[in-house]
Amino acid sequence: MTIQHNLGASERTRLNSRSAWEMDRDHVLHPYADFTTFAATGSQVIEKAEGMFVTDSTGQRFLDGIAGLWCVNIGHGRREMADAIARQVLDMEYYNPFGASTNVPAAELAARLADLSPGSLNHVYYTCGGSTANDAAIRIVHYYFAMRGQPGKRKIISRNNAYHGATYVAAGLTGIHGTKYGFSQVGEDFIHHVSAADCYAKPMDMTEDAYRDFLVAEFEMRIEQLGPQNVAAFIAEPIMGAGGVLVAPKGYHRAMQAVCRRHDILYIADEVVTAFGRLGEWFASDRIYETQPDILVSAKGITSGYIPLGATLISDEIHAVISRPQCEGGVFAMGLTYSGHPVACAAALTNIAIMEREQLLAHAARVGAYLQQRARLLLKHDIVGDVRGGGLMLGIDFVADKVTRQPLPAHEKATEKIFKGCVERGVIVRPVGNRIILSPPLIITESQCDEILEAISGSVADFMAAR
Ligand code: PLP
Repeated sequence: MTIQHNLGASERTRLNSRSAWEMDRDHVLHPYADFTTFAATGSQVIEKAEGMFVTDSTGQRFLDGIAGLWCVNIGHGRREMADAIARQVLDMEYYNPFGASTNVPAAELAARLADLSPGSLNHVYYTCGGSTANDAAIRIVHYYFAMRGQPGKRKIISRNNAYHGATYVAAGLTGIHGTKYGFSQVGEDFIHHVSAADCYAKPMDMTEDAYRDFLVAEFEMRIEQLGPQNVAAFIAEPIMGAGGVLVAPKGYHRAMQAVCRRHDILYIADEVVTAFGRLGEWFASDRIYETQPDILVSAKGITSGYIPLGATLISDEIHAVISRPQCEGGVFAMGLTYSGHPVACAAALTNIAIMEREQLLAHAARVGAYLQQRARLLLKHDIVGDVRGGGLMLGIDFVADKVTRQPLPAHEKATEKIFKGCVERGVIVRPVGNRIILSPPLIITESQCDEILEAISGSVADFMAAR
């Protein structure tokens, strides 16, 4: 453990005598902490990471099936990333991005993003992560319509089960009900939700096409209800991630975008998870879903999680409107100290260079197809109701009954037990509700896919045997 050098000797001794586990338990407030167990169990302290593996403070090594948290796309512990970050710190660690001041990596990365992203998404507003990038997207939408003389056109339609982040507006956009308790519903006056697009949840006697048409009709109805003159934007993840790797019916995104176009509603693609190779492309919107977002939100894989960065990409058309002078001396008053942080942008440029040199997009597409196909073998288990996803993004649902899709009773703690079984087998997966989610680094091999799936299969079998 590294202790800061400017601490006094006695303070250093006191801190050294306490383990990271203990200090964490006593002082760190974790996202999604379960306070019923945390005080007793504390955290698993991850100390080392390399390639596909992480090692905890007890020396146990795990195959990382979730890329940290959907983000370490190029794999852990790359010296090239450390060098790029160190070089930028020594060249110029930080200077402010406000007004007309910039830095070289922020400018170069913006040009790269304009190049790689779909259509005319040629302008980027940098943030510190996915939540702040979604907040920025909504502020830009409101500003855009205000500049067009339509300040009343400000409602945003999101979807149930969507995950868009933890800052207050991003949390408002989020449609996972379990995240809402105890917090104020900020944005209640302008954020609305429609149904999730979830092929596994569609009525069994409905075809996929009919389900898509139903969702699109529901969306149109909601727009009519709210008044198209009041609706500013629709926001959607190409595949819902944290909501459970929920896959939309074929043609859904394209049809939703057509509705948006008809009503002058902006289409925001939240590609925080799906961009930078997870689905085998730089961005999924155009290449996989044939959509052309007006705003595209990215984070996570943009730096492979080596350092925080978010990016809100906007179209030429939006830029043309928001860059009109409001009045003499009027400015675009939306500033983050760390917008375009040079170290984060330098990391992103190196991350992109690594992905290109190692052809990680093509690799992810190929190994992703293998993972999706091999994962279907898990359906042999009575409690595995569905296996689905795209690229290197997979969801596995556990059910009590495959026909009714009734979930397993909560008291059986199936997901928790299966997750623990995987950990005992040296594999980290992600338990979410009644499902396990996978999102491994893009460098994963076919045999490592097998290893992860065998760990899940073995843990499912153990769980069933012990019921
Ligand atoms: N959007 C999506 C689709 C996400 O999955 C996440 C995080 O998981 C976010 C936004 C929020 O990103 P961050 O946690 O970097 O703020």
